[in-house]
Amino acid sequence: MMWRFYEPVELFFGKDSLLENGKLIKSLGKKCVITTGKSSKKNGSLDDLENVLKQLGIEYEIYDEVKENPSFDMLRDALSKYKGEKVDFIIGLGGGSPMDFAKAFSVLLANPELKVPEVFDTEKYSKMLPVVAIPTTSGTGSEVTQYSVITDDNGNKGGFGTAFTFPTLSFADPKYTVTMPDHLIMSTGIDALSHAVEGYVSKRSSPFVKLLAKKAIALIKDYLPKAMENPENFEYREKMMYASTLAGMVIAQAGTTVNHAFGYPVTTFKGIKHGQATGMFLVETLKVMSEEAKEEVEEAVEVFGGLDGLESFLKEVGVYKADIEASEEEVKTWAERTSKAKHLAVTHGNFDFDKVKRIYEEVLLKKLEK
Ligand code: ZN
Repeated sequence: MMWRFYEPVELFFGKDSLLENGKLIKSLGKKCVITTGKSSKKNGSLDDLENVLKQLGIEYEIYDEVKENPSFDMLRDALSKYKGEKVDFIIGLGGGSPMDFAKAFSVLLANPELKVPEVFDTEKYSKMLPVVAIPTTSGTGSEVTQYSVITDDNGNKGGFGTAFTFPTLSFADPKYTVTMPDHLIMSTGIDALSHAVEGYVSKRSSPFVKLLAKKAIALIKDYLPKAMENPENFEYREKMMYASTLAGMVIAQAGTTVNHAFGYPVTTFKGIKHGQATGMFLVETLKVMSEEAKEEVEEAVEVFGGLDGLESFLKEVGVYKADIEASEEEVKTWAERTSKAKHLAVTHGNFDFDKVKRIYEEVLLKKLEK
């Protein structure tokens, strides 16, 4: 069996990893833009970053308008402010949204001839400005992946990811996650769990990917409930951040499966957070995948004692607690889109329109606790 592992990110993990190793940022240039949301002011990460940049004499501007599920319009807004300025690199600070945004913004600044939607077409460009990624949640793993997920002008999620869109440097410090509210601990933790499980069963999985995924899954099973019960506990937060970083490395190699595509419309059109929206379909999609990859699915959920055990776990942490009203027409549109998702290229099992529609109905009508 032949496999490849490509992870060209210099990652520092642990308490004070940014404060102690931030000097490496100096090699990236003299001026940067920090893309972030509002919470980085509250969790201490922006203070740390500004201190590091000041000490290094790096000029910086703060673009703190990045919101959840970043869109083409947000990119246009940022470009209108910084296009034409001499910017050497971008720092994405926050959850998945600011980090994904940083990658897309960096591509568009480095390739000024591109129109914003063309950022999805990685055949049209071959470079981006260096990106530094500093996560303040434990879920997306964006600090170690090439992926950027952006909402297009029609409200649909799309994305890109290729060999040269990884961050150059990443600093993962669990102390920035200690102020995360409860529902965010759950949602981001379940996102990481989905990454690990989906990567494990992906057609692009490999023995090394499975090793990382197994570790991530076991950590999340043990520490997500603990982190939710004891939000101030640093050790639990550290374990969750470790798990989400491992799960990020998993999807950087193996990609996510169609399960992720199931969650997208529930997030963009019904406002359910990405991790929760993804987690609520996991058991049903794994059942279909196991028709073709029984052994992989069994191994992936082994620590839960099987799919029923996984379902109990998801129920316990609150994944199925969601009030979603969706019309028949909406479900039909979602099913049409999801049954053509590009994730299907790496997904085992047959996900035709009827099956996808049935899964949407099954989850939305029967599983959710309103
Ligand atoms: Zn995800």
